[in-house]
Amino acid sequence: MPDHFIIQLIGLENKNIQLVDQSIEANTCHIHIQLKRKKHACPQCKTRTDRIKDYRIHMFQHLKTAEKRIIIHYRKRRYICPCGKSFDEKNQGIVQPYQRFSVSWHQAALLHSMTSPSFTYTAKAFGTSTSKVIRLFDARTTPFIIPPSQLPKIIAIDEFKGDTDKGKFQLIIADPITRRPIDILENRSMKTIQQYLRERGQQVEMVTMDLSQAFKSAVQKALGKPVIIAD
Ligand SMILES: [Zn+2]
Repeated sequence: MPDHFIIQLIGLENKNIQLVDQSIEANTCHIHIQLKRKKHACPQCKTRTDRIKDYRIHMFQHLKTAEKRIIIHYRKRRYICPCGKSFDEKNQGIVQPYQRFSVSWHQAALLHSMTSPSFTYTAKAFGTSTSKVIRLFDARTTPFIIPPSQLPKIIAIDEFKGDTDKGKFQLIIADPITRRPIDILENRSMKTIQQYLRERGQQVEMVTMDLSQAFKSAVQKALGKPVIIAD
């Protein structure tokens, strides 16, 4: 099968995509791609360069094809300009930084959620969580929430009742000053928040929340240093 046929089959119409590898399991296809090496203008000094710094693998889920989950392993290239600035290659809307789903997946899931009987129904159809669909839907008039790799110095943690059939509680991480959501966590278990804060909470110095004492202790412990916890 010509390589490009697979790329077309999964709907990534981009002449610069090269298929590096592929494997099929029972319910999942793994597609390994990279883009052709190309001169890019440096974002800092505008010099055009194709000098390669390194590669990172960005894994994300794409639209299902023939009822199989598609996992893209994108070998993302970084270039380095003679001025010293390094930057990611442009990927023509395949995936945004830090996202775990492709751009076309986001568009299709959003469209589906607008006519779907429930967010949960869309979540099942697209192999994701209900909170992820709600987040997409809520963000339809504003840019998508892109959870940062590191949280800011001050955060607020609140619980809310997610729109799931079980009425399960979820956590929202927000900026306490602007009240803008930073991220939404699937559930309010201490294990979930602790793992999340260990990964992204190094810079956090203050947390505002109105939750149980046990929960506050769990947050304190996960951050591994004294932080101010306010109501
Ligand atoms: Zn430069």
